[in-house]
Amino acid sequence: MALFGATGSIGGSTLQVIAEREAEFEVTALGAGRNVSALADLAARWRPRALGIGRAELIPQLRAELAARNIRPEPEIAAGAAGLRDLAAGLDYDVLLLATVGVPGLAAAEAALARGKTLALANKEALVAAGPILLRAAAEGGGTILPVDSEHSAIHQCLRAGQSGEVERLILTASGGPFLEWTDAQLRAATPAAALRHPTWRMGRRITTDSATLMNKGFELIEACHLFALDESKVEVLIHPQSIVHSLVAYRDGSVMAQLGTADMRIPIQYALTYPAREATKREKLDLAAVARLEFRSADEGRFPALRLARQAWRAGGAAGAVLNAADEVAVEAFHAGQLSFPDISAVVEDVLGACQHLKMDQMADAQAADAAARQAAQERVTARAGRRGANGSAAAR
Ligand code: MG
Repeated sequence: MALFGATGSIGGSTLQVIAEREAEFEVTALGAGRNVSALADLAARWRPRALGIGRAELIPQLRAELAARNIRPEPEIAAGAAGLRDLAAGLDYDVLLLATVGVPGLAAAEAALARGKTLALANKEALVAAGPILLRAAAEGGGTILPVDSEHSAIHQCLRAGQSGEVERLILTASGGPFLEWTDAQLRAATPAAALRHPTWRMGRRITTDSATLMNKGFELIEACHLFALDESKVEVLIHPQSIVHSLVAYRDGSVMAQLGTADMRIPIQYALTYPAREATKREKLDLAAVARLEFRSADEGRFPALRLARQAWRAGGAAGAVLNAADEVAVEAFHAGQLSFPDISAVVEDVLGACQHLKMDQMADAQAADAAARQAAQERVTARAGRRGANGSAAAR
């Protein structure tokens, strides 16, 4: 297998899964963004034939770190999005697990699918920003996308209970994030620290903030539409604070299939890596008697506009998903920098979605162009809003 995003949290969990199944897996390539010394440590442990690093300027430092660890022969080193793409296009592997953050890994994903490889997809942006292109590459090249995200893994598993024509709708569960019970006034005063207190999953800053706005669920809604070829009207979001039921599929006969498990990403990661087999794990087993109760309620798309914006982006098609993702990333960063209030995140995204309509999406370069255009539009709106907040004398959101 090849693993891009190896030094992040999903990358680490993936290598734990692989470490327990070392007889079955060989790691042929590892990629990381900028954590050179962590990547060199992984290279010493896994001895891959190739390494990918975020920027070419980091190559000398990576070489020095490899030499310091006596790693010989030195692995092939590739840099940047083009480097990852070249590795995905040329290297020997069966499965590419893509756990990179942002759009730089997308060309590699396209190359893997075009070669008929399995793409185990943990990158949140890929299907949102470039779904049509990745699906086309898979259809033309014979590649397969297996979701790693817990919700899509759950749906993938629930769909094994029936035929696609028998499916009535998908039900994506959402923890609801830390602000589920907050009033509008509280939301306006929400601090970055509060947004990072996710009730059930330990994750990075962007995704945790996206869980608080429900934009993460909005992205998952778009991903589900692409992965399972359904319209947004067939995908429901259900708040489930315990995060035990990872998602459900409702069939036309009234039966609903659910996948349950502990909140441990190593379970969906292993599912994607060993599919179609289910292998034993050392993971903690679900104890439903200890959990005792599972609660559900409908999602309030008025209080959390991110879901409405995601549905709007899906219906708009084209580059709207790429715009949604890029605008959100800029707005989330601005919230953490104290430039935007919490509700401003969705307001900026909505503005940019309106301003960046009609961008085309025919090839991967279009996804990158839409990403850049949306980032700039979002930055302009952040600056304007931050200026107004300053002028009003309101304290930065800290
Ligand atoms: Mg998820």
